[in-house]
Amino acid sequence: MALLELGPHGLYCAAGDFYIDPWRPVGRAVITHAHADRAQAGSRGYLTAASGVALLREWLGAEAAVEALPYGQPLTIGGARVSLHPAGHILGSAQVRIEQGGEVWVVSGDYRTAPDPASEPFEPLLCQAFVTEASFGLPIFRWPPEDEALDSVQAWWRANCEAGRSSVLFAQPLGMAQRLLTTLDGSIGPIHAHPEIERFNRHYRAQGISLAGLAPEADGRPALVLAPPSAQGDSWMRRWDQASTAMASGWMRIRGPRRRRALDRGFVLSSHADWPALLAVIDATRAETVWVMHRQPAPLVRWLVEHGRTAVAVEAQYGEDEA
Ligand SMILES: [Zn+2]
Repeated sequence: MALLELGPHGLYCAAGDFYIDPWRPVGRAVITHAHADRAQAGSRGYLTAASGVALLREWLGAEAAVEALPYGQPLTIGGARVSLHPAGHILGSAQVRIEQGGEVWVVSGDYRTAPDPASEPFEPLLCQAFVTEASFGLPIFRWPPEDEALDSVQAWWRANCEAGRSSVLFAQPLGMAQRLLTTLDGSIGPIHAHPEIERFNRHYRAQGISLAGLAPEADGRPALVLAPPSAQGDSWMRRWDQASTAMASGWMRIRGPRRRRALDRGFVLSSHADWPALLAVIDATRAETVWVMHRQPAPLVRWLVEHGRTAVAVEAQYGEDEA
């Protein structure tokens, strides 16, 4: 019997009467991670990984009923045994493991397997059914080693400094921005972060994650400016309108998104699994059934079916957190 079903509000577990990352307010919501598309306000109660509670409250407010569950600790909800396990996507991101009568289902949420000092390392899990994300579920999406991409970011920044120019780097404000800030070398020049990024930084620092120090105010020296993609052209960015521009995202693997935004550079860095990592994770679960949950799940479903797996497309209503 299926432990989960897709209802009008999202993935539903009847045994425990809860939803996972529902796209409408529900009674009880288990949240895989604190990206805005997962964190619909208005549900009666929320459950999320302990290290993600403060980030989730950024969307839900202080009054929301949010229960914290430490990784690996089982909780009985109705007839289901639920536990959360690191997904490696952002701080506090979790895979949801659901067990009932010897049957185990795992809902991955968004995940990444590459090591990230700003996130708990991805934990491989065994299950009979695996519900996977597929943000980059096409064979073209293969990431270079992260160290190489990060070196390229610093080389671009250093060259701009030498040319007397600032560097504006667009990145996902929750996740990738902090990944960058654990690595960027503050001796190259001052670093500034858009308020939409600093808003999340403080929760990382509060949990002991060491982020590069930020310069208090622009002092005229060439700087590195971290900003969310949505800030391109906003008033806060205006003082850096002569800067060299770049974006760090999995979408930089293809040309269109960089050209459309008229960026000087694109760095292939993602907080999601690339195609080989998706396949490796799915394989390691040894799941008999794979649900692919995305706006466009078809290519990965087709690949899995062609390779002898039982795979089902589940059309999700989540946004693109790296776009
Ligand atoms: Zn996400």
